[in-house]
This record gives sequence, C-alpha cells and structure tokens, in this order.
Amino acid sequence: MRFPLTAQLVDEARRFELRSACRDCLFWRARAQACLHGWPDEGQGRWPLDAPGPDGAPPTEVAFCKEFELR
Ligand code: SF4
Repeated sequence: MRFPLTAQLVDEARRFELRSACRDCLFWRARAQACLHGWPDEGQGRWPLDAPGPDGAPPTEVAFCKEFELR
C-alpha cells in the first residue's frame, strides 16, 4: 500500500514510535535479509520512513505491507 510521505506522518512516526518496516516484522529473516514470504522490497523495508533513497534523494512516498506483523 503506497501513499504520499508527509511531514505530519514523519513527525507522528517519530513521536509515537511507529513500527512498520520489515526489520520490525515477525516474517523478516534477518540472517538472510529476506522476507519469509518472499516478498520483494518495494519500499516497505526502508526505515526511517524519510531515509534517502539509493540516489540520495528524499522519498516522496511511503509503502506499508499488508502482511506486516509486529515482532
Ligand atoms: S511480510 Fe511484509 S513487512 Fe513483513 S517482512 Fe515480509 S515484506 Fe516485510
């Protein structure tokens, strides 16, 4: 699920200690650096939400995975 990354969301993610990325998901296999279900990283692995992309540019979108389960 993708939607715009707003300043309000970044602020609330910090203040309320939001957990939404693969690293905090029950299905994340840290040793293999892969999802147990084999999902590709389409942005849901990025943390923090406003971390720059590979090109160094700030992101404009955020992606949440519908199968995320808090570890
Ligand atoms: S289920 Fe989704 S959030 Fe969890 S590790 Fe896999 S891709 Fe990441």
